[in-house]
Amino acid sequence: MSFSDLGLSQKVLDAVTATGYTEPTPIQAQAIPEILARRDLLGIAQTGTGKTAAFTLPMMTLLEQGRARARMPRTLILEPTRELAAQVEESFNKYSVGQRLNVALLIGGVSFGDQDMKITRGVDVLIATPGRLLDHFERGKLLLTGIEILVIDEADRMLDMGFIPDIERICKLVPFTRQTLFFSATMAPEIQRLTETFLHNPVRIEVARQSTTASTITQRLVASHSHAGAKRETLRRLIRDAEELQNGIIFCNRKSDVHIVYKSLSKHGFNVAALHGDMDQRSRMAALEAFRNGTVPLLVASDVAARGLDIPEVSHVFNFDAPHHAEDYVHRIGRTGRAGRKGTAYTIVSEADAKSLAAIEHLIKSKIEFDGPDLANLPPDEGERRPERKSSRPRGERSERGRGRREEGKRPQREIDILAAADEDNVEVTEKPPRAPRPERAPRAERAPREDRPERAERPRRDDRRSRDRDEDGPTPMGLGDHVPSFMLRSVKLPPKTVEVDEPETADHRED
Ligand code: ADP
Ligand code: MG
Repeated sequence: MSFSDLGLSQKVLDAVTATGYTEPTPIQAQAIPEILARRDLLGIAQTGTGKTAAFTLPMMTLLEQGRARARMPRTLILEPTRELAAQVEESFNKYSVGQRLNVALLIGGVSFGDQDMKITRGVDVLIATPGRLLDHFERGKLLLTGIEILVIDEADRMLDMGFIPDIERICKLVPFTRQTLFFSATMAPEIQRLTETFLHNPVRIEVARQSTTASTITQRLVASHSHAGAKRETLRRLIRDAEELQNGIIFCNRKSDVHIVYKSLSKHGFNVAALHGDMDQRSRMAALEAFRNGTVPLLVASDVAARGLDIPEVSHVFNFDAPHHAEDYVHRIGRTGRAGRKGTAYTIVSEADAKSLAAIEHLIKSKIEFDGPDLANLPPDEGERRPERKSSRPRGERSERGRGRREEGKRPQREIDILAAADEDNVEVTEKPPRAPRPERAPRAERAPREDRPERAERPRRDDRRSRDRDEDGPTPMGLGDHVPSFMLRSVKLPPKTVEVDEPETADHRED
């Protein structure tokens, strides 16, 4: 099968040749002709198998007819994270060299100005995160009635609880007659049922059963004692001993662990960057860029980096813990072993991960082998100096060192964790000072501090009605932990349409 058999225009074929692709991947070979025939489509294929080109190439061919009008984009691609949206824009630019296509990227965390200007000039392809797209729409700068093709990438994530209200709304704003394309590597049956609401008589292409991991990834489990010090030690050993390690992404379930693991690795001499959803956009981009261009070979990240990012050379993925949601495992390890390359994924598991691990193995329908002893045969823990989440140091001892800090007994738990971790690894913590809460913000009434909520810490879960109220919520002030000042806990009357929701990762919806 060659690209020229798929019905793509000559211009697009030239661009493909220039890119160096010689043969379409299975999802490309099957999806491209259907998209060119204007069918709706649900495309499921493993991570790193070229789903982006499977929709961008036929879109470019279809866009050759007609031209863009001011404020009325012709096609729309929705992505769950800003980084992924930016990456798809790059792919578009790469594939559309020599063609006159106007592409605009609408993501949060950056200013509206340039985005407005592009929309006003007329856009063929709009690539957006849902929150920022709706912001533009509400500002009256954008009309979605000219959309001919709607692509929802990472479709199962986009239809999960956090995003679905935005997606429903966007789907009502685009013409009923548009063509809709959904892509993902995972698609739980209950979410797939939801797709039927948005797709009209779709073709379903499933290159491999959903949630199949790429065959080029070697997966291993590594048993560890469950306290964080032991896990960090295990991680360091893994990084040091890993064969052919060129670079790697270390995923943590919690943003606080991203921070701690980042600090700890830096202290131990590793060249490392961090990426999570509470960082400002500039730092997020800088971290990713440093990792992408090889300046920094290790990236500690939350699940904000789990979906879609395509950094071809990533040789290793390390899961500091097993993700709570089994699909995230498939996506995390899918950052390696891309486009036919080899990759290795290690998952550190302790007793605490047993349930998550069982769910992962059930989802991927295979057992993952242990590298070294399994949990039952793990040698006794000599290093358990201090139990997780508790300082073994008598209360107040630290303050006696005269560091000028608050009394330990009054220190918020999160701060204690970070300091304890730092002590264990001999890390000097330069934790950001607690960010002062903005007085005009509504309180995080009765809610536990975000970092302490175990589930779906990074998942967007909010109601779209709330998403417009950007000032309603913000990042949990670092270091406040349990000691949230009482004025923040005061209950206030919220506008009638605003509901309290779990705080998501993506500030995509609230910033600016
Ligand atoms: P997915 O969305 O399926 O995870 P991507 O679209 O990000 O995968 O593509 C993964 C990698 O494969 C990219 O680096 C891309 O350049 C490369 N790629 C895509 N199509 C081809 C092809 N036909 N031949 C070779 N490489 C390809
Ligand atoms: Mg993709």
